[in-house]
Amino acid sequence: MRVGFVGLGAMGAHMARNLHKAGLLATVWNRTAEKARMLGTELAIPASTSLAELAGQVDAVVSCVSADADVLEVTAALAPSLAAGALVIDCSTIAADTARRAADLLRSTGAAFLDCPVSGGVEGARDATLAIMCGGDPQAFERARPVLAAMGRTVTLFGPVGNGQAAKATNQIMCAGIIEAVAEAMAFARAQGLPLEKLIETLGKGAGSSWYFVHRAPNMVQGSYPAGFRVRLHAKDLSICRDMAARFGVSLPVVERMLGEYAELIARGHGDEDISATFRLKAELFTQHDGASRD
Ligand code: NAP
Repeated sequence: MRVGFVGLGAMGAHMARNLHKAGLLATVWNRTAEKARMLGTELAIPASTSLAELAGQVDAVVSCVSADADVLEVTAALAPSLAAGALVIDCSTIAADTARRAADLLRSTGAAFLDCPVSGGVEGARDATLAIMCGGDPQAFERARPVLAAMGRTVTLFGPVGNGQAAKATNQIMCAGIIEAVAEAMAFARAQGLPLEKLIETLGKGAGSSWYFVHRAPNMVQGSYPAGFRVRLHAKDLSICRDMAARFGVSLPVVERMLGEYAELIARGHGDEDISATFRLKAELFTQHDGASRD
């Protein structure tokens, strides 16, 4: 299996390196060509100069780009040059409906589309321990297995195209509630004057712990929020969750609250920071009431 990788961002560059380690990576492409040239040099593989060039050389394409319009744009550009029987494995987080539209773009080519969004953060991408949630034809999924296994530890097919994204949307709602709770708790702990590093070590082993607490509470202690999972990308995911819930006439409180907080962070110029930057707003709750608490 010869694989081409499209989208060498915070996640994609690591995922491409793991495909290389597994002996599967044939070529890479990135919209900002310099990133593809640099990774090509690092891995001693050619960087493609266009999506058509990449599509013409491989049996499978893995894409990991930002949002819905980007996936449609990339898939449309790949389509004319894909071999019949080729696979497009899209690991971006997008709406389930968009995944179905991307699959439609390939229908006349004989290539198959799988939506395979991932969870596990940049660390999971680096360590090839991602959880990968898939939707698509079962036979195409079986062919994609070695590619997916090179990037993740838990790989599950949830049904037809779109169902991987529905599973991912479920995950994003949980992430919203958890990062909010972690930020609020850390702001509270700081206001209590607790030694925060010790707190992370101890509570990290307690019942209230989570991946976000262990891996992102340290950002809150240091006041530094490198991406990570960018605020603007989680806001994009939560807008998808909002639309999916709205079809049932439902507004989800956790989703609405975090969309509000992210809008505030983006307005203040923090959209490219990790979502642990939510701590900025939670910490302000205490500084605003600082005077009152000392009275
Ligand atoms: P990122 O660092 O912002 O990288 C985005 C990548 O997509 C870049 O390579 C960018 O190219 C490319 N891109 C964007 N629009 C494009 C277009 N129209 N055509 C071609 N390429 C395009 O984002 P990321 O954190 O890697 O996230 C990528 C996807 O994974 C997103 O859907 C995100 O929601 C999802 N995800 C992220 C995480 C996380 O922790 N970061 C976790 C799970 C899932 P340029 O270099 O030219 O900008």
